[in-house]
Amino acid sequence: MQRIQRLDLPLATQQALDRKQANADAKRAAGGLNVEATWKAARQTKPIKTALGVLQTMAGKRQRCMYCGDSHGADIEHFRPKRHHPDRMFRWLNLLLCCTECGRLKGDSFPMADGMPLMVDPTAENPWQFLDFDPATGNIVARFDPATNDWTRKGTEIVKVLQLDGREAMAAGLQQTHRRLMGRVESALKDSPPDAITLAQALREADDHGLLGWYFSGSGQHEKPFASLRKNHPDVWQRLAGTIQSKNGS
Ligand SMILES: [Zn+2]
Repeated sequence: MQRIQRLDLPLATQQALDRKQANADAKRAAGGLNVEATWKAARQTKPIKTALGVLQTMAGKRQRCMYCGDSHGADIEHFRPKRHHPDRMFRWLNLLLCCTECGRLKGDSFPMADGMPLMVDPTAENPWQFLDFDPATGNIVARFDPATNDWTRKGTEIVKVLQLDGREAMAAGLQQTHRRLMGRVESALKDSPPDAITLAQALREADDHGLLGWYFSGSGQHEKPFASLRKNHPDVWQRLAGTIQSKNGS
């Protein structure tokens, strides 16, 4: 999972979505909104197809699912499920791209606590604040927060809902990407000092799963070659962290 920069929709598309939302709101007020049928019909229209295209651009050239980072991002996902939040069915900020499996697992789930979502929206927050990667198993798990001496609630919930700690194919893919990224840093460390721009490019190209944020803002900074890079070349580390955080990982 990686932090994703949300792009703006073309103005005409944004306005068309606003009109669709206003129509849906009016129907709902009159007691006659069929959420599934309305979405199914809208799904075939140009504004929604355009929105899907922008989501695919946001997801990067691999067009991976914004939740698991592993499978193809097949369709539009409503962060707040449309069945329970029909007032956000056509709201751009509520739309993400996800794979069939994540869509199926999430369904209408949307755990909340004290009025705050416990799901992670990768276009609004850095997922690695809440999540951790376990190189030994390839699983994505909740991040342990020493400040509260507990695992983050958001991390715990999203891992449970999307079963991020029990998807074998995803875990194998993440482990492979992890090994590849470690290898890129190991080779760069043979040059002294490593070139930050070349390394940033090599890392982005090798990051099939949106794992880079874990090394630069999560516990991945303790993995051996990354720890050596940070210790021995702090300026290169800083420059890399800056470029990696500011761009989509792919
Ligand atoms: Zn997925």
